[in-house]
Amino acid sequence: MLSESEGYDLLKGYGVPVPQYRIVMTPHDAADAAETIGFPVVMKIISPQIVHKSDAGGVVVGVGSREAAVAAFEKIISGAKKYNNDAEIKGVIVEQQAEPGLELIIGGKTDPAFGKVLTFGMGGTLVELMKDITLRILPLDEETVRQMVKEINGYPLITGYRGMKPKDEEALVSTLMAVNRFFLENENVVEFDINPLRLYEQGALAVDARVIVTDGPVQEEARPERPPVPMEYFNPRSIAVVGASQDSTKMGYAVMHNLLHFPGQLYPVNNKRSEIQGLKAYPNITAIPAPIDLAVITVPAIHVPRVIEECGAKGVPMAVIITAGFKEMGEHGKALEDRIVSIARNHGTRLIGPNCLGMIIPPRGIDTTYVHQSPRPGNIAFISQSGAIINTVVDWSLSKNIGFSAVISVGNQADLDFLDYIRFVGKDEKTRAIILYIEQVTDGKAFMEVAAEVAKCKPIIAIKSGSSSRGQAAASSHTGSLSGSYDVYMEAFRKSGIIAVHTLTGAFLAAQMLAHRKRYPKGKRAVVITNAGGFAVLSSDYAERYGVEMVDLPKEVIDEMNEFLPEFWNKGNPIDLLGDANEKRFEKTFSVLAKHADLWDIAFIVGFPNLVLNSEQMARQILKFSAATENRLVATLLGGASMDVGREMLKEHDIPSFEELDYTYRVMGRVLWQKFRVKAPGLL
Ligand code: ADP
Ligand code: MG
Repeated sequence: MLSESEGYDLLKGYGVPVPQYRIVMTPHDAADAAETIGFPVVMKIISPQIVHKSDAGGVVVGVGSREAAVAAFEKIISGAKKYNNDAEIKGVIVEQQAEPGLELIIGGKTDPAFGKVLTFGMGGTLVELMKDITLRILPLDEETVRQMVKEINGYPLITGYRGMKPKDEEALVSTLMAVNRFFLENENVVEFDINPLRLYEQGALAVDARVIVTDGPVQEEARPERPPVPMEYFNPRSIAVVGASQDSTKMGYAVMHNLLHFPGQLYPVNNKRSEIQGLKAYPNITAIPAPIDLAVITVPAIHVPRVIEECGAKGVPMAVIITAGFKEMGEHGKALEDRIVSIARNHGTRLIGPNCLGMIIPPRGIDTTYVHQSPRPGNIAFISQSGAIINTVVDWSLSKNIGFSAVISVGNQADLDFLDYIRFVGKDEKTRAIILYIEQVTDGKAFMEVAAEVAKCKPIIAIKSGSSSRGQAAASSHTGSLSGSYDVYMEAFRKSGIIAVHTLTGAFLAAQMLAHRKRYPKGKRAVVITNAGGFAVLSSDYAERYGVEMVDLPKEVIDEMNEFLPEFWNKGNPIDLLGDANEKRFEKTFSVLAKHADLWDIAFIVGFPNLVLNSEQMARQILKFSAATENRLVATLLGGASMDVGREMLKEHDIPSFEELDYTYRVMGRVLWQKFRVKAPGLL
């Protein structure tokens, strides 16, 4: 930790306003220094062992005379000795006393995955209590800094709250920019805080500076460049299962079993049997008289190096190592993992796993996992750092009629990692939306780059585990890697265009919302069309809560609707077509809205079943409406089984349809949070 004065000097060099100060070693010098600076002054202890000076009685404010300076000096020294007898006392700093002002905090820390992060918020002694803090990953541009300032809840205190004069926002912005430069350019600074920074009607002043430096590297090293993985590696024509088994209690049995539907060539490898599950078996992979595009390995860890050696000799381009017992098991396992990686690299063989389930590509009949039952083909790609979650999600998807373009279990990511898989599903034609389950990423900057590129054309939704301090401990013993800080992940996601969610249900609802040709709505202005008065009111409530903006209908649109709607319709948005609305009434309303599509971005259609309008009629009109506009439609067909026909019809055309109104808006709120940075979207 640098001393406060060293911190001030460093910051001052970047244009951060700091107080005038002197460092003194005797009471007499303290009095002289105070006189030179001008009364009153503040005096503080300088000791590397005393991090929070106030706690050690090491701060005296309002020193108004020579005598007071002498007394303060003695009080500070004796207080420090009492607090920590071993503390090395480097002197006392005498500094100009700053006027009271709005106390803010500017801090910085280094995240192991994403690097340097700047935090800003309400400061002073209540900082932990208020937790009114926002953060960004460096580097920052001025626009981002301005956004940060406006983002905190305390922002009205800066612009002038209840008759208070506005504070100097420009001085704050330029101080933040200065601190940004300071943090970027001083590589050895790993952490710091300026608490408080006092902000005035004119100018600002940092009245404390705690700067932590290091000699060693603090951020994980970027992974060495690895060659890109060709797309055809995910489309093998022949697969060998090394460790295939006839014994139904073995992993090698289940994997073989799930691959029996594979339309290409399938070769079991087993050195004890000549036939496995009805197919001719080979004693080792080199004995197979045909090229192998993919090897799936389930033999015990100790045999894996030999098998990879054989794969290399045979020219197998990629192997899935299901076997566990590597990095996640500590030092010894790590060494074994390093060995297989280096053998594979020598031969140019790429690796999925180890300690994973491998991949399921339903449209190609590939399933290297031991899930209970293979999932259906569909347009969602799911990439997960947890095998158990894959098992669960696949099982659940079967009952929900959800299909996948790919399901990938990343395991220890010894070779192929999240980035390779995201790139693959990003290019994969069948994939319309991507869901990630993440415990930790290794190279955060590269992750953000790749995700941002893919998110431009396909929505990415992520669940990040480890938001609780307990969760972090659990994750660290899970895939053999430490979790990064959750808040930094959330910011990294937002910055790279990833939609963060908290639940699996939320992830699939968001995927469903976006797995459509039109993807994101082009804005956040919404119209609501419903035949249910109660749900019209709830729609307004939910829209406001989750950041969806309800537009006002202009007079000309209302006039057009007056032509065919009952006299007493509500003449506003939500558009309540009333309980007796039939198909014709919906049709006419939709056609007016399609004509005025420039007025809105999203249409929420909320319907309930009744005798004048069945779900099929409703769905038919929604489909017609969707074809007539480039804007996004979102349907909520409320009710039970009587709505199923309509829901199915919409699903066939990828029009999202929900069954619970709150979720409709909650999901859209999350989507808009990502795209348009709406404030406070609901948890999903
Ligand atoms: P700590 O190590 O306890 O954080 P600080 O240097 O932040 O010590 O001092 C504690 C408090 O004293 C600050 O939060 C601030 O309110 C006040 N203070 C410190 N330095 C000054 C100063 N130069 N002018 C006015 N008040 C100050
Ligand atoms: Mg302080």
